[in-house]
Amino acid sequence: MDSPARSHEPQCILCGRCLEVCPLLAATGREELSPRAKLYTLRRLADAPGELDARAVERLAGLCLSCGRCARVCPQGLDVPGAVALARGRHPGFQAWLWRAWIGRADLLWPGAARLGAALGPRGGPGALGRRLAALAPARRPAPLLRPEAFGPCPDAGKTVLFSGCLARTLRPDWARTATDLLRRLGCEPGPEPAWGCCGATLGHAGLAGARAGAVARNVAAWRAAGRPRVVTFCASCTHGLAAYAADPVAGLDAAEAAAWAEAVTPLSRLLGRVRFSVAAAPGRVLYHAPCHAGPADPDRAWLTGLPGLDADPGDGRDCCGLGGVMQLGAPDLSRAVAARLWQRRAAAPGDLMLSGCSGCLTQLAATAPLGVAVAHWLDCIDMA
Ligand code: SF4
Ligand code: SF4
Repeated sequence: MDSPARSHEPQCILCGRCLEVCPLLAATGREELSPRAKLYTLRRLADAPGELDARAVERLAGLCLSCGRCARVCPQGLDVPGAVALARGRHPGFQAWLWRAWIGRADLLWPGAARLGAALGPRGGPGALGRRLAALAPARRPAPLLRPEAFGPCPDAGKTVLFSGCLARTLRPDWARTATDLLRRLGCEPGPEPAWGCCGATLGHAGLAGARAGAVARNVAAWRAAGRPRVVTFCASCTHGLAAYAADPVAGLDAAEAAAWAEAVTPLSRLLGRVRFSVAAAPGRVLYHAPCHAGPADPDRAWLTGLPGLDADPGDGRDCCGLGGVMQLGAPDLSRAVAARLWQRRAAAPGDLMLSGCSGCLTQLAATAPLGVAVAHWLDCIDMA
């Protein structure tokens, strides 16, 4: 794998840690889909161009969920999803174009897709596409589990605004309403939500560096125009995408602004530790799905599992929902295989409720859940009446 030209770069030491955490490898058993194999083939392609078929290598290496789990555990700091994004960027193709249109025109496309999904009924009829569309349609809210009883003081950080994320902006404004209500009652009076764009994370994973840079620039400009407020999020992937700006030259933040930005991005669940909730009995088990991009410090999991009386089962945190961003367009079978493994490992049964706090995970979980298993954002379970 190594070559003199790469002697200055970190090298894979074949420790195998990435193999233990890759959900794609776990679901398929296919070694050629592993992080190590992706790294090897992409480096081989760079070191010996012409020896391998570039398109075939990049197509194979592009079969990646961009979950980031391998990069988090690699002792050499090797960033496989980053290498995959670069490879995707070299051969964008039709799927990347489609993904850019789907994300970039969410305001136009998603409501129509959700209406079509609603017309297909709750299970979307036969076929994976129907279930995926049905998963966008507003689902019946689960019975309220959490009622806020007392609010502590809001930690003072000046002005506060929400970053609702694309799904809440287009299809689930009720999440933003509940979040706004919670912030008000905490005393963190939120200002009008700026004209944010996509956080850019899924565009970057898809190799759409230019589109991501545009989204980042728009959001940074909106933050500055709003007076650099605290930015409260309730989607784990948005939190992850926004937090990355602080260390990314593309964002154009100087050192002081980068520190202010890192401080400003605040998951809502981190503030909810200041609220006392009463907890109603759930009809079945309450499961929690930890989004890959929330990382080991997942604030939603810490809050939910710390709520007295809720008894939410967080699992072992090793499962990916399998959404995979642009990958699902080219390899929906792999996306489904990863989801099937999750549901099998969580042993979900009719009457159970699966909660999560990532918009992407929620659409994938709703599209793949076993019959009778409800899927909801944890905001859906809060009764603000
Ligand atoms: S980003 Fe996730 S799916 Fe892709 S190689 Fe790494 S662990 Fe596997
Ligand atoms: S964790 Fe890093 S060093 Fe270890 S096998 Fe994977 S890529 Fe190589």
